[in-house]
Amino acid sequence: MTPTQQAHEPRAVAQRFASFGASIFAEMTRLAVHHGAVNLAQGFPDFDGPDFIRDAAMQAMREGHNQYCQLAGIPPLTHALADAWSARTGQRRDPSTEVTVTAGCTEALAATFLGLINPGDEVILFDPSYDSYPAYAQMAGATVRWVPLRPPAPGAPDDAPFTFDEGDLRRAFTDRTKAILINTPHNPTGKVFSRDELALIASLCARHNAIAITDEVYERLTFDPALPHISPATIPGLEDRTVALSSLGKTFSFTGWKIGWAIAPRRLTEGLRAAHQHLIFCVATPFQHAAAAAIRAAEQYQPTLNAEYRERRDFLRAALQRLGFRVFATPGTYFVYADHSPFGFPDDVAFCKHLTENVKVAALPPSVLYHDKAEGLRMARFAFCKRMPTLQEGVRRLEAGLRAGS
Ligand code: PMP
Ligand code: GLN
Repeated sequence: MTPTQQAHEPRAVAQRFASFGASIFAEMTRLAVHHGAVNLAQGFPDFDGPDFIRDAAMQAMREGHNQYCQLAGIPPLTHALADAWSARTGQRRDPSTEVTVTAGCTEALAATFLGLINPGDEVILFDPSYDSYPAYAQMAGATVRWVPLRPPAPGAPDDAPFTFDEGDLRRAFTDRTKAILINTPHNPTGKVFSRDELALIASLCARHNAIAITDEVYERLTFDPALPHISPATIPGLEDRTVALSSLGKTFSFTGWKIGWAIAPRRLTEGLRAAHQHLIFCVATPFQHAAAAAIRAAEQYQPTLNAEYRERRDFLRAALQRLGFRVFATPGTYFVYADHSPFGFPDDVAFCKHLTENVKVAALPPSVLYHDKAEGLRMARFAFCKRMPTLQEGVRRLEAGLRAGS
């Protein structure tokens, strides 16, 4: 087909996806590869996860764990997840009826929205949000109510957090609220929700009989002892109304394996499994065996992971600060969030395009993750889930090619 013919073809994309563009993460990686840029845009490690987990996957394949498994996931993994959940939260969940293995956190989110939310329901999202949430709300026929996460005021201390306004949150809850999505630690800002913030959310969920959907994929990537990760399900009022979601990718550096899970009381699990059955039925069997080995080793492995990531975070934050960025606190995730205004670009896309094409370092322009786009225009997100030499090369290029006011 010629380009002219293509231009006259009606768009085939269904209406429910018409308002969503192509993934900014994939687009920035494409640009980074095209321009030979150091890719600090898309959040994936440029190194492999631990050998013992890879070996466990290969062993499972060799041992013949290669056919469909149960819809809920293989028992060694659902039991490992239930045990880890109990150790971390003090709550016992039944592995056969309250733990579900999914294709990454992405499919866990899809199953939760499609299995538990009805057309006409309202879902509360914080702004900015990971790009999948509004897409799943749309697929479920729900209306989104947005609560802005505001950056700290200019001149606030370096560790000042992004916050939300209590009045905004209270106003977002209505008699149609079905769910609120809490992503902690939060992509893209790096925010870790505090106990007081979660307690306020819990009280409103209880009052409005709403559920909490929690995206905790960065749960093991926190760096500030004053702001540990708190699973929202441990907050009084949320224990029996939370669908807790997470995945293997960030903690164990295997983002391509797409092993995730949902832990929720039985009645909520029934809903999400109803969707999971028809979305995917069951997840890659040998990788689940490897995930079970990973989860069983998580507590021993975590200090090493945190120490390595803390060093990379500190290195990148210090470099960006030296270069003249206003750098926000990074208590969690593997992203440094920064204000690029000192460099004089009109918006995040122009800034990140310049960085990728001319400075040869790719960063993520986050305005597509905002409902109120204007709030994202002065921001850029830098991923530090990269080898130290990659970060060093990125910083060397930034120092050589980027000047305040350029
Ligand atoms: N939620 C958030 C906040 C993320 O950053 C990501 C990252 N990719 C996901 C969900 C998707 O996780 P997974 O790769 O396990 O599907
Ligand atoms: N979560 C990753 C990020 O924020 C990317 C995920 C994706 O590419 N869809 O960069």
